[in-house]
Order: sequence, then C-alpha cells, then structure tokens
Amino acid sequence: MGRAADFEGAGRTAAWMTALPHATWRAVRDAHTGHTIHVVSDRSFNELTKDLDFGLQILGWMSRRPVTWYWWDQPWARRLPANTDPRQEHLNGGWAIPGVLEVHVYRREEAHKVMVHETIHALGLDIPQALTDPVRVRVEGALGRRLWPHFGEAFTELYAEWLWSVTSGGSWSAQMACSQKQAAEVWVRIRDAKEPEDTNVFAYYVQKWVLMQHLESVLLDPVSSVGFWFDWWIAARPRLEELAAAAGATEREELRMGMTCHSSAE
Ligand SMILES: [Zn+2]
Repeated sequence: MGRAADFEGAGRTAAWMTALPHATWRAVRDAHTGHTIHVVSDRSFNELTKDLDFGLQILGWMSRRPVTWYWWDQPWARRLPANTDPRQEHLNGGWAIPGVLEVHVYRREEAHKVMVHETIHALGLDIPQALTDPVRVRVEGALGRRLWPHFGEAFTELYAEWLWSVTSGGSWSAQMACSQKQAAEVWVRIRDAKEPEDTNVFAYYVQKWVLMQHLESVLLDPVSSVGFWFDWWIAARPRLEELAAAAGATEREELRMGMTCHSSAE
C-alpha cells in the first residue's frame, strides 16, 4: 500500500481509506481461470458481489493468463469544474505496466471500463509508441503546443470502450453519441490552450472520437491505421469546430468526464 498515498497525485485515495468507518476488504479468485480481484470498498458485501463477478467474467474473456485486479472502490467521480481545463485529477482512473499482469483502478465510476483499459496495457495490446510518435508530432505542429507522449492512448481507450460496450451489452450508437458530445465539450476547453498537456486529454477525448468514425479500420488493423490518423483528424476538424460552437456554453458548466455515459459500477 506504499503507493496509495501518492499514486493518483492528490492523496485522495489514502485519505478516503483512512476515513472509512467500515472498510470492506475482499479478495476473490476464479478457481477455473485464476483471475483475482482485491478490492477495498465502503459498499455492502452483496452490492459489491455483482461487480466482482462481472470483473472476473471480463477478465476470463480477455486473458488466458491470470490477471490480478487491485481496485480502490472509491466514490470519486470525474467532474470538471466550470472554466477549468481538464487535468490528471479530472480524468485518470488507474494504471498498469505493460507485460505485468496486474491492473489498478482507484475509482468506482466506470470501474470495469477502466479495468479493461488497463488490462489492454498489461497484456501488451497497445500500438507501439514508436509508431504513434510521428502522428503526435504532426498534431502538435497543427495545435502549436505539446501533447502528452502516449498518443496511442486514443486507440487503447477506443478499444476499451468497444470491449466494455460488448461485454456489458451496451449500445455502441449511444457510446458514439456520448463520445461526440464529450469531444465537443473538451474541444471547447482546450482548443485555445497554450500549455503542454499533463495527461492524455487530446488523445482520450478528441483523437479517440476521430478514430471512432473509422472503427473497422482501427480495430481490425490498429498498426496500419496509424498512417491515416493525422489525415482523419484534419478531415474531422471542421465538424468538431461546428460541434464545439454549439457546445460553447458548456465552458461555464461543471462537466462529467467519465467516458461512458452509463456504467455498471455507479
Ligand atoms: Zn492508458
């Protein structure tokens, strides 16, 4: 638990655990697949059980090799205050190290989708960064500022939302509509930004929405699709500007930043 004090930068998870009057610590393992979940939560045993069962099901579907999911089931929803540019504390929800079959999630909000995203990293299913770096550099040139280095997160998040949508029985049309609304709202905030990014805002919300419009190409052959990413972004930009113009008033509102418009663990 040494990292709990600082892994999300704000110390919120450590403070939450310290303040819990009746923390529930649970560990479950699927005897057949070997997947394991460790969770700390303030929710009741029964309420948590369905989320743990669903987590083991998803892991069973994604990986033959046993994965361990560490979950701080914390009611810390992603909210972006009015007139604020999105940063790490408004978006991030977990981490994983490629090749290490352990995933970490520190929010309750859309926890299964975040777990899928981190499992993609853990299983090494990302597009190699060497391939996405040239696209990032071109986009940085067009925007006139630095982006977060992990531009391939646009694919990782798209893939996670697709797998989450399939496993949870959600509507992909609804997910696309959700992403389009968020891309517009985020673009309203960041289109005039001058500072370098401190997390993957552009990749998560804008480039992912661009890739979503070319879903088959991206999912069937992610690596080859990278060669089109920049042109797709340039082609999508006029539509994004139109959508952002219509969403201009949202700059003065608090926004929900969770990337699925409904979630199994909310
Ligand atoms: Zn990621």
